[in-house]
Amino acid sequence: MSRSTVRTLWAVLALILILPWLPLPAFWLAQLNYIGLFAMTSLGLVLLTGVAGLTSFGQAAFVGMGAYTAAWCALNLGWPPLSTLALGLVITAASAWVIGRVTLRLSGHYLPLATIAWGLSLYYLMGNLEALGKYDGLNGLKGLELLGFEVGQGRGFFAVSWVMLWLCTVALMCLLDSRPGRAIRALKDGRQMAEAMGVDTFRYKVTIFVLAAMLAGISGWLLAFYQRAVNPSAFGLKMGIEYLFMAVVGGVNQLWGAWLGAFVVRILDDQLQEWLPRLIGASGSFEVIVFGVLLVLILKYRPEGLWSWLKQWQGPSVRVRDWDDALPLPHRDKAAAGECVLDVRAIRKTFGGLVAVNNISFQIHAGQIVGLIGPNGAGKSTTFNLITGTLPLTSGEVYFNGQAIHGQHARDIARQGLVRTFQHVKMIPDMSVLDNVAIGAHSRGQSGVLGAIFRRNRNEERSLMAEAERQILRVGMGEWMHEPAANLPMGQQRLMEIARALSADPALLLLDEPAAGLRHQEKRELARVLRQLQSEGVSILLVEHDMDLVMDVCDHIVVMEFGTYLTEGTPSQVQQDPKVRAAYLGTEH
Ligand code: ADP
Ligand code: MG
Repeated sequence: MSRSTVRTLWAVLALILILPWLPLPAFWLAQLNYIGLFAMTSLGLVLLTGVAGLTSFGQAAFVGMGAYTAAWCALNLGWPPLSTLALGLVITAASAWVIGRVTLRLSGHYLPLATIAWGLSLYYLMGNLEALGKYDGLNGLKGLELLGFEVGQGRGFFAVSWVMLWLCTVALMCLLDSRPGRAIRALKDGRQMAEAMGVDTFRYKVTIFVLAAMLAGISGWLLAFYQRAVNPSAFGLKMGIEYLFMAVVGGVNQLWGAWLGAFVVRILDDQLQEWLPRLIGASGSFEVIVFGVLLVLILKYRPEGLWSWLKQWQGPSVRVRDWDDALPLPHRDKAAAGECVLDVRAIRKTFGGLVAVNNISFQIHAGQIVGLIGPNGAGKSTTFNLITGTLPLTSGEVYFNGQAIHGQHARDIARQGLVRTFQHVKMIPDMSVLDNVAIGAHSRGQSGVLGAIFRRNRNEERSLMAEAERQILRVGMGEWMHEPAANLPMGQQRLMEIARALSADPALLLLDEPAAGLRHQEKRELARVLRQLQSEGVSILLVEHDMDLVMDVCDHIVVMEFGTYLTEGTPSQVQQDPKVRAAYLGTEH
């Protein structure tokens, strides 16, 4: 976390603790209490929608689960509030886990539709269960009492709910700034890349879905005791949309956006309900129309939400460098020089009628740099995708260190040390180069979500950062380390991809056109890095159009044309082969 973030957090906590002592009018205190509750739920939506790209209209149903559990257990079993919170969290987490496992594989607009479906189902369930008082709900709860203190509905409630909100925000910030957090931030735009770095993206999707539901559950628990009653109207689809609205208005890319969004929406809602009927001279839910118009305007002109206006006052977020004495990450054993590392046997891929890769076979031995060349469209990238499990094979077999890897997930193949870069750079644009590269080391760490939230991951995190920094320096990108990846020139983006792949400690590195966009000097530097890797026992498969580079660094070259194997040999053999001249060099020069 950067220093400015930490300072902001402490300042906000101080404000939360001071505010109840100020002479706030009861009306504003009540508004703030609601804002805190709403912000808690939209915090989860920022995580889901903004960070991970999963839109949910159903969060209100999880708020309802937390609220009903609290009310039912308190009224029927006489449970103390904290026990009802614990049970509420278990129930929301378990339900979210089940719903998440079933629906999160849906993509595009099917997922939001599914969230509407289960949101509605749960709403009608709450409204129809006799035990939950049907549409009248459950009434007559006592005010919140914690550890013998009457929290009540006023200042005490403000302090408790906002401190909880603050704690949850800090927890999520710690999470996002960690090994699992970087994987979560890759869910929106970088799933294929993350899988290729050994990340089980579906598991992280389910995890944050559960986390977001738990935040909603906490909010529901607070709401039940604040209103001293629950009924289904607060947990329907309308509220689900409103929570999403808060996150979008505030800014889905930033946890503070949830705070801001809840604040703006609540205040606006209230003011509009007061002023619109006077202006129009008739009563009705006119504020809904204004909200709709507002949402369209914000989506059009401020898609990053209102927070993007406030962002300019945030200090630059440079990570505090604390990894000087970090322990190095463990290295994997590499095959002895000359052993067969990769054995590709008659792999084939068809896209409809097009045979993109037609029974290609070749081998790579430990410590070799092998070039895979051929004109554009020859099937080189597809071959990469087949070897690394990014695409399923139509037929054929791939052996890595003697083990069959065909049919395995990309992430499992990557974890074994077969790591790649992409021809079209894949990165998380708003994350720093350092964090992007650290994703590469994902499979060399273990810390999970809880470890990150409770900061039990510090030593591992320092080791991961040290490794990322080492690889960034190795490819000569030290000056870019803290820049958002989006600011990099094309050539530098490619080098960053190489650094990311190197952070995974590859035994076999697959580079897809790494020199495209590099300047002459940078290409020579790249050649030097490749040779250095070779001397460390790393084997390399290189797809590249720069023939000088290929002929310079490769020990062996395989040539493809129109998806089929053309020939192979040493650089000089290949260069002199008339078939290659005709097919490849002929078209290139
Ligand atoms: P290269 O990397 O050698 O330039 P590719 O492997 O990218 O070639 O592509 C080989 C052929 O397969 C091309 O004709 C390309 O259009 C086709 N192809 C690649 N990926 C797909 C896909 N996902 N769907 C359909 N066709 C594809
Ligand atoms: Mg290609």
